[in-house]
Amino acid sequence: MSVSITHLGTGSRGNSTLISSENGNVLIDNGFSGRQLEKRLASMELKPTDIDCMLISHHHGDHGGGVEIAMKKWDIPVKCNYFTAEKLGILDKKNLEIFESLDRIEVLSDVTFLPFPVPHSGAENVGFSIVTKNGEKTCVVTDLGCYTDEVIKHMQGCSHISIEANYDLRRLLSGPYPDKLKNRIMDRGGHLSNKQTGNLLSKVISSKTKSIVLTHLSEANNKPHLAESTVLYHIDDIFTGDIAISLQDGPEFSHFLGQEDKEKISIKT
Ligand SMILES: [Zn+2]
Ligand SMILES: [Zn+2]
Repeated sequence: MSVSITHLGTGSRGNSTLISSENGNVLIDNGFSGRQLEKRLASMELKPTDIDCMLISHHHGDHGGGVEIAMKKWDIPVKCNYFTAEKLGILDKKNLEIFESLDRIEVLSDVTFLPFPVPHSGAENVGFSIVTKNGEKTCVVTDLGCYTDEVIKHMQGCSHISIEANYDLRRLLSGPYPDKLKNRIMDRGGHLSNKQTGNLLSKVISSKTKSIVLTHLSEANNKPHLAESTVLYHIDDIFTGDIAISLQDGPEFSHFLGQEDKEKISIKT
């Protein structure tokens, strides 16, 4: 059976991504309240106690805000780096395991997770590349102000890519944010613009790449059609697969690794 990837929701009000195989379920990030997590998992016919492990990219509230409550309420094990655990205040928890970048994490017997460093101010953020037993590779990368050669290397060879497209530069510059905040977002430790995401994708996609999901769109400084058209402009002549947008209120669809078509989720709650 194949491995699926489903965004339960992405954006500045919370991020969580579900990776499922016949051997279990892993969440990458949990920026949702206990109730929200329960509700979103119920759409997938899952309960929080069905989650085998949460892997946390960094400590910002939209990625780690729901970690402590989920550890306490449902005893879900957590893996993250030391800095993230310290910032989340969970270093003393017994269901915590510390990883370092490039440690291979074997939570499910048929899927391996590899955290790699991505630049993000004030955080020790990681992206995850995920490889299944039958060799399909995917990655979940968000919250980075720029991309390094290392990021490019880990994102190459994927059949599915989830990557942030946070802001449209023109919207950000003419938008409501104070200059200081605008500069922080555009900084090398901030977030990727639609154009930067397009450029990054043009360096990592190949004929293997069947699907892309754009995540973490700013509600104030971006629009789905801008993100999609800007990214496609950069990859149009090399990418023929499926492109989709994950918004704040999910889950909306799942991708099965190795297949191009996504599967729509009918909300049952
Ligand atoms: Zn962040
Ligand atoms: Zn974030």
